[in-house]
Amino acid sequence: MERTWVEIDEQAIISNIKTLRSLSQGARFCAIVKANAYGHGMKEVAQIAARVGVQSFGVDNLDEALVLRELLPSAQIIVLGYVMQYQYPEAVRNGIELTLSDREDIEQLERVAAATASTAQIHLKIETGTSRRGILMEELIDFLLEIKRSPHVSICGISTHFASIEDTGNAEYASLQFSRFSDALKELQNHGFNPPHIHCACTAAILLYPVTHGTLVRAGIGLYGIWPSELVEQTIRKQNISCELRPALKWKTRVAQVKSLPIGTPIGYGSTERLKQRSRIAVLPVGYRDGYDRSLSSIGEVLVGGYRCKVMGRVCMNMMMIDVSSVPTVEKEQVVTLLGIDGRHEISAVEVARKIQTIPYEIVTRINPLLPRIVVS
Ligand SMILES: *Cc1c(COP(=O)(O)O)cnc(C)c1O
Repeated sequence: MERTWVEIDEQAIISNIKTLRSLSQGARFCAIVKANAYGHGMKEVAQIAARVGVQSFGVDNLDEALVLRELLPSAQIIVLGYVMQYQYPEAVRNGIELTLSDREDIEQLERVAAATASTAQIHLKIETGTSRRGILMEELIDFLLEIKRSPHVSICGISTHFASIEDTGNAEYASLQFSRFSDALKELQNHGFNPPHIHCACTAAILLYPVTHGTLVRAGIGLYGIWPSELVEQTIRKQNISCELRPALKWKTRVAQVKSLPIGTPIGYGSTERLKQRSRIAVLPVGYRDGYDRSLSSIGEVLVGGYRCKVMGRVCMNMMMIDVSSVPTVEKEQVVTLLGIDGRHEISAVEVARKIQTIPYEIVTRINPLLPRIVVS
């Protein structure tokens, strides 16, 4: 009995893993569970994935990595984002693989690993055109020489990340990035390095560009049953590739109060919206602090008893109001669906994202991690 909660459909996660794995046969499957598993609950999703044999996980930071390590003592855990140097001892002690792209980080990591006579495993992130973290091609050789001087640092992976693979039907830029990545790999091999994990494919690349799969694929959004973009979905449909993704998350709350109000009544802060007719208004105990975006004020929709109901006035910090005039009966504490299916209707992350000009990734990742995650099997 929760007031507001997130439900995770275990079978949907398992089905999505199967689908993505079957499209990337031969490559190791790495489940990207950063940002609380895109809002789905990191521990919950990691446990489901581990039960169906997933052994690699990608996170953003060391804190996430350490939580996972406790849960999965022998899994491969790759930190994709930046780790502060002071955290290196903890990373090495826990067998966490780091993604590095600065030469001075190698020196520091070598000192830390040498002090405990251990070997630090790293992934070299190559800058191929996203201009995020990554080693510039012209600095790669210096970087490799530094690693040769560092006996306690071992390259277990080489990676890059595509800039626009989900945003365009044109693979030209991705191909350019991939050819730069291939050049970097050759450079490594010329210097005697043969990292087992060669990886650059996110969900869109897994779906659309098999040539990029390498030896490991990094599946994020698809694992959760959400298409990386509408364009990717359309392209897959056009190519007749059989691929079903099942959204795994439902976000629910309950009716806190219902009342009938006369025409003209202003609703919420700023009195930004007035009733155009006598209406029944329900108050929900959920607001922008829970991750329900304030830009959905007056335009968001939720499901009550299988009916679509509009958000009225501004979304507050911890509450919001909806119009339930069209729902035959609404009871106090009745379940309301903010995201997911109820009856014949669905509020998808894609729909919500489109309404407020963002991407579905943002809609799910910003659901407050403090809300309970309940796995439904
Ligand atoms: C988040 C992330 C991914 C996953 O991308 P999706 O589009 O969600 O599959 C893969 N690689 C890196 C480096 C990431 O940061």
